[in-house]
Amino acid sequence: FAKNAGGNKYQFFSGEMNQNAVRQLQIENLIRHGLKEDLFSVFYQPKVDIASGKLVSMEALVRYEHPEKGIVSPAQFIPLAEETGQIIEIGEVVLRKACEQTKRWVDSGLFTGRVAVNISARQFEIPDLDDKIMNILKQVGLSPLHLECEITEGTLMQHPENALSMMQRLREKGIHLALDDFGTGYSSLAYLKRFPINTLKIDKAFIDDIAKASDDRYMTQSIITIAHNLGLKVVAEGVEEENQLVILRKFKCEMLQGYLYSRPLNASRFENLLKENHELKQLIQNA
Ligand code: C2E
Ligand code: MG
Ligand code: MG
Ligand code: MG
Repeated sequence: FAKNAGGNKYQFFSGEMNQNAVRQLQIENLIRHGLKEDLFSVFYQPKVDIASGKLVSMEALVRYEHPEKGIVSPAQFIPLAEETGQIIEIGEVVLRKACEQTKRWVDSGLFTGRVAVNISARQFEIPDLDDKIMNILKQVGLSPLHLECEITEGTLMQHPENALSMMQRLREKGIHLALDDFGTGYSSLAYLKRFPINTLKIDKAFIDDIAKASDDRYMTQSIITIAHNLGLKVVAEGVEEENQLVILRKFKCEMLQGYLYSRPLNASRFENLLKENHELKQLIQNA
């Protein structure tokens, strides 16, 4: 497009549309460059067991380490990468790196849980995704029992039959599945029953106001109750304050993920956190 930017072909585009297209192309090129130069890295954010206050699991979150701009957040490139299909290559890089790192932490006795990796709808459509994931696990030497895949409702909606069969195949191999960002999309409760999910992640948008607004608090409580009745574990996303934790503990929510315990950290800082093995002190005080 850039080459033709001055050509007649695009003369009807408004300036704004043009700018948008140019920006998209820039990001697309940046992603291509990042893949070629290995600029994508993985940060880790703890999931904390609310009953014990201990770090029990973690989510792998991609970052682009730009030589000049510094660390670029996924919100800036994941949506476009999904459009262009580059998410498939990024996803493979993230999965491999997250598995390699987890393998090192498991082998050194620092970590015993699962690493959760986000899988986008585009990736979930790969017909042999399960084999691809198993191949990476085999190459890395990590057991599937240390992996969880996070998918969103959007992924389930597009091709429910295909999604269901892929989910069953992943579960047969011992990989766990989490439904991410619950409450933001279409949030059909039917999904919870129909699909073989292990964990439900309640979106930060709900959690934000549970200490302030009674409707959000009741909704969260109801979601947790339904999830428990279906045998699912619940993770509250984006927990930042102690008063949110107190409520979630009352509702018997199993895990929290949020700045209250830790932001996502690079591998070396996350390793320090694993070594410290600290507990969420608020829990002990309020017990
Ligand atoms: P997500 O999967 O729902 O991940 C949780 C996001 O919430 C992360 O943002 C995390 O940093 C943020 N977060 C966690 N606790 C708190 C909190 O207490 N306060 C606030 N303000 N934020 C909190 P992040 O890392 O920027 O990632 C954003 C989204 O980008 C992810 O949302 C996910 O949808 C996507 N993403 C990240 N990494 C990958 C990846 O490797 N593959 C794919 N397909 N998507 C990814
Ligand atoms: Mg996620
Ligand atoms: Mg989420
Ligand atoms: Mg989110």
